[in-house]
Amino acid sequence: MRAVRYEGPEKGVVVDRSAKEPACAPGEALLRPRRVAISSTDLDLCSGARRSPPLTLGHEFVAVVERTSPLADQKERARALQGKRVVGTIATACAECDLCTAGLSAHCRRRTVLGVDGRDGCFADLFTLPIANLHPVPEGVDDERAVFAELLASAHHAVRMLRIAGKPFVTVLGDNAMGLLCAQLMAGLNASVRIVGRHEHKMEIAGKWGVKHRALSDIGLRADQDVVVDCTGTPEGLTTAMALARPRAKVLLKGSLLPGRGESRIDLSPIVQKELEILGSRSGPLAEGLDLLARDAVDVVSLITRRTRLDDAPAALRIAADPAQIKVVMEG
Ligand SMILES: [Zn+2]
Repeated sequence: MRAVRYEGPEKGVVVDRSAKEPACAPGEALLRPRRVAISSTDLDLCSGARRSPPLTLGHEFVAVVERTSPLADQKERARALQGKRVVGTIATACAECDLCTAGLSAHCRRRTVLGVDGRDGCFADLFTLPIANLHPVPEGVDDERAVFAELLASAHHAVRMLRIAGKPFVTVLGDNAMGLLCAQLMAGLNASVRIVGRHEHKMEIAGKWGVKHRALSDIGLRADQDVVVDCTGTPEGLTTAMALARPRAKVLLKGSLLPGRGESRIDLSPIVQKELEILGSRSGPLAEGLDLLARDAVDVVSLITRRTRLDDAPAALRIAADPAQIKVVMEG
């Protein structure tokens, strides 16, 4: 079978055509992807910004359940999932450590993450995930929309962490897929939302959703925003976010500010001077992403800027690294 692997800085991304079919361990399901999408984390892995031993890339998917190895108490669930389209929570949890038993299984001390950390990903003909991680896709949600479930759940989780009340002024920094989704979701609340980015065609998509938009070069730094969501993952983004925030504002980092990204050092003194509340947000509950898709409450298809095939994954990853792209989706 094929597997798209990142083999380290020298070899880069390769399509391994003689990869071994993954073993379906007890409690796991063997999955065949129908659509996969390239995320910023995939690009971080390929650029070396995020370090990981060689592994099969990919964690945004919609797949069909080929086979399962259910535990004794999973037989009925496994039967119901057989042959069904599913999406899945990408992090696995041990259910035994102190964080798992405290209800924080998303932060499990022994967690692995599909295609990111300690578990081969979905850019392959077949891959595995625990049966417990899988969610059937409602019939009305087609593959092109279902592949966004993970990203959407993550955006929804971030928005919920902000506990938007009243009619706050919100700025979303960064016109990548996450920024556009966060802006779209918050515009559906009572908030006065604007997205700030660099690309006219992306701003047009925001405009289509009724979200106000500004070019980064056109905004003043007036320190009048109640909430700033930084989706850039860059030191410059965080610096701008802190400048836009009013005293006692919330600044949410949605994007990993990895070491070595950008040249500038960050002046964190505004956190103290303005008494800012700094939040970080990672993945969210997948069922909520699926629910938004099932209710057709969010437009995700407008975010697809390129459709290609798994065989072209190395080229697709290069294309996706162009900031003018939003979402690159691949099928078998
Ligand atoms: Zn655990």
